[in-house]
Amino acid sequence: MKADVVIIGSGISGLTAAAILAAKGRKVVIIEKQPRIGGALKRFRRGNIPFDVGFHYTGCLGQGDILHLLWHYCSVLHRLEVLPFPAEGHDRLYINGYPPPVRAYFSYTRFTDELKQHFPAEQGAIDQYFQKIEHICRSIPFYNTKLPLTDFLQGYKPKGHPLSEFLEKITDNRFLQAALANPAILYGVPTDQVSIDVHAMVAHSYYTGAYGIAGGGQAIVDAFQARLQEADTEFLTDRAVASILVDDHGVTGIRTDREETIESDYVIHTGHPSALIDMVPDGCFRPAFRNRLIDLKNSISMFALFGTVSATPGTKAFLDWTNHISIPEGPNSFPPSLKTRSTQRSLMLTCTERTANNTLQPQIKSVILLQPAFWEEVAHFHHCRKGNRPPAYSRLKHTITEQMLQTAEKKWGDYLGPIRPLAMGTPLTFRDELSAPEGCAYGAMHCLNQYNPRPRTRVPGLLLSGQSTLMTGIVGASISGMVSAGEILGLESLWQEIRRWS
Ligand SMILES: Cc1cc2nc3c(=O)[nH]c(=O)nc-3n(C[C@H](O)[C@H](O)[C@H](O)COP(=O)(O)OP(=O)(O)OC[C@H]3O[C@@H](n4cnc5c(N)ncnc54)[C@H](O)[C@@H]3O)c2cc1C
Repeated sequence: MKADVVIIGSGISGLTAAAILAAKGRKVVIIEKQPRIGGALKRFRRGNIPFDVGFHYTGCLGQGDILHLLWHYCSVLHRLEVLPFPAEGHDRLYINGYPPPVRAYFSYTRFTDELKQHFPAEQGAIDQYFQKIEHICRSIPFYNTKLPLTDFLQGYKPKGHPLSEFLEKITDNRFLQAALANPAILYGVPTDQVSIDVHAMVAHSYYTGAYGIAGGGQAIVDAFQARLQEADTEFLTDRAVASILVDDHGVTGIRTDREETIESDYVIHTGHPSALIDMVPDGCFRPAFRNRLIDLKNSISMFALFGTVSATPGTKAFLDWTNHISIPEGPNSFPPSLKTRSTQRSLMLTCTERTANNTLQPQIKSVILLQPAFWEEVAHFHHCRKGNRPPAYSRLKHTITEQMLQTAEKKWGDYLGPIRPLAMGTPLTFRDELSAPEGCAYGAMHCLNQYNPRPRTRVPGLLLSGQSTLMTGIVGASISGMVSAGEILGLESLWQEIRRWS
């Protein structure tokens, strides 16, 4: 088989790259290890109830925002029903030791006003924080599309002071520090290791609006799939790329674990960058680059509990347009150390379906609880693969389920009633389902003192993409797909075409 471009992995980064390349007439083959395409975006079902895993909401889907432009360019936007969070929608923050919930609106103005009402003595600190975030984002082309992209990407690396240091400098108020640090839950890096620049990049996308999609992450996958099938892109599922073939001039193709060979001048790898080492022939990379890939530190993992509650008007009002997030106070509140007990870790309560008539069983509402987790908590079972986990692992999951339910019911039980658990994911689940080392939820950490690999490698034709390269989340991973496609097509001219609609 022959292709112009082989893409390894069918998450949002691979799908975005494929849609752009296919639109330019390239013959693309996407290879996916799992039986179904979509990576972290795809839904699973328990008892016929659909659950999202890696998509609960996103920023940047407003008119003229980067994801809006990009998905319009990919011819998928018109296939999606975008559900903007209403003006009164928000993340509701429950800060330990500070009883009234803080509404973290998806709007600079509303969130600023809310914080000033809660912390009237901290007006200066609040202004300083938001001015800093906006200032940083003005020089990022994804948020200021008038800017060229190439210069920005060439100079891009996490720099500046740690977020926690910045927060401690502007305020002593530990409740305010926690409220401002909270977007860390969306990129999974401890606040003393993340630069204010990286924090700004992710936080800004939510401070300017939040959006769901009718049908959740699966609807995004289906929209890309429909578009790509029109463009004759081929999907090969249930097989992994085992090796990338290289000669003296660069990439020549790939071989799968089923011994299939596909010839191609370009290969885009969207999985974890460290997996590349075993895929390429020895000597392809310089030792320094190889070591950099091996030493990449990973973002945190999650315990994810999927369940249901009775769908009363009260639970719907409580859940549909609000994510409830319990967080410890202070600037280093997220994520906690391994020693932090489950009951003291942050906990996010969200739901899958945001539209009333979307659920198959109208009397039931799906809920998802997400909590930071560490690989060490399940590392003991690292040798057990899916379908072959021992009883001790089930007991561990049961204990964690009970702890998460107790915390959630104590905090939100009055509004929700009892939660009926249906499934639980751990770092082991994410390792196996997403090929994510240590179950990292957001790929390799975008942290200080770590240089995440760039899209282009020294092997001609071999490119990297995905959340570990540039920025995490649906926004970051989709942009990374655009950038790797741009490396093949001409980055700046592609950028000019995409931003034409802004
Ligand atoms: C629990 C959780 C909640 C999240 N919530 C949100 C949210 O609400 N909003 C948001 O914006 N982001 C969220 N994220 C993050 C977001 O899901 C990711 O940043 C994004 O989906 C990553 O996309 P990707 O294409 O880089 O990787 P993935 O979606 O992980 O795709 C990579 C694909 O590559 C495949 N693969 C790997 N190696 C091989 C190989 N050798 N051969 C073939 N295939 C291979 C994998 O099977 C996988 O399908 C969440 C993540 C998690 C885990």
